[in-house]
This record gives sequence, structure tokens and C-alpha cells, in this order.
Amino acid sequence: MKVGLFPGSFDPFHNGHLEIVERASHLFDEVVIAVLRNPQKSSPLFNLDERKAMLEEITSPIGDVRIVSVSTLLVNVARDVGADAIVRGLRAISDFETEMQMAQMNHHLSGVGTIFIPTSSKYSFLASRLIREVAQYGGDVSDFVPKVVADRMVEKFRHTGEAEA
Ligand code: ADP
Repeated sequence: MKVGLFPGSFDPFHNGHLEIVERASHLFDEVVIAVLRNPQKSSPLFNLDERKAMLEEITSPIGDVRIVSVSTLLVNVARDVGADAIVRGLRAISDFETEMQMAQMNHHLSGVGTIFIPTSSKYSFLASRLIREVAQYGGDVSDFVPKVVADRMVEKFRHTGEAEA
């Protein structure tokens, strides 16, 4: 059984991510999505449990997708889930340099290789950080994220707004 591991912070998970999961599900018998704490992104919008719960709901129609949330090195997750490959999405050439470096480090540490899936052009401008900014100032993000995420973002920023008012 071939297992693909798709890691990211997914804060929030958007339609570009979803496309990668759908395409990976055609390449692997099982896709494990690892929701990771990113130490460089200090204050997350959604905590790991919230992100995991939303991902479970969003991916349930796809089948053979499992979600784990972890605060450890990716190579440890790859070993624990028996990953045959790590899957990463590529939006633009600017992603390539860091992704290549990470892929080589992960391969060196674990022997697990990385498969890059290029995003389709309709999603290449999507980035979690940008979506957070749009939602934070009341913009409509429903074209960019699954419905459950859009609803939760509205809820989250409504509470933040109340707290700041
Ligand atoms: P990280 O926290 O690792 O930077 P993200 O949560 O932003 O990760 O993204 C996780 C994965 O999804 C990465 O492989 C990233 O390249 C990919 N990705 C991000 N945005 C898009 C997009 N618009 N289309 C396709 N893949 C994307």
C-alpha cells in the first residue's frame, strides 16, 4: 500500500490545498495529511485541534485520507505513518527554492523522497496568510476556502472584533 504524506500548517486550509489532496489521492492508496505547528508562524488563527477537525470534515468525501496533527519533525511523522513519499504543492518558481532545500533535508534525514504537485493556475495566488488578512478586515473569502472554513473564519473574526471593540 502506497502512503503519501501531505504536511503543512493549513492555517487555514484552502482550495489550493484541497486540489493537492484530491490529486494525491489518485497517486496513493492512502493520503495522510499532517497538520503541523509551524514555529515560524507564532500566533495561529486556528489551533491544531480546530484545523484537524475541519480537515476531517472537508476530506471525508474523498476517502482514504487520514488527518494527524503533530508538533514534531516531519521525518518522525513520515516514519510513524510509513510514508512512501512526502507530497508538496508548488505555486510558483519562488516556492521551489525552499521546497527543494526541505526535500533534500528530509531525504537526507529519513530516506523519504518528495513529490511536487504543481497547482492549477486558478489556485496559484492562494496563500493562507493572504486569506487570513482578507478575512480579518471583513473581506469575503468564500471563493478561496471550503464552506466550513469560511464559516469558522467569520465566527473567529467576529469574536476578535467584539474583543477589540
Ligand atoms: P507551510 O506551513 O508548510 O508553509 P502551507 O500550509 O502554507 O505550508 O502549505 C502546505 C502545502 O500546500 C505546501 O506544500 C504548499 O506549497 C502547498 N500550497 C500552499 N498554497 C498552495 C496553493 N495555492 N496551491 C497548491 N499548493 C499550495
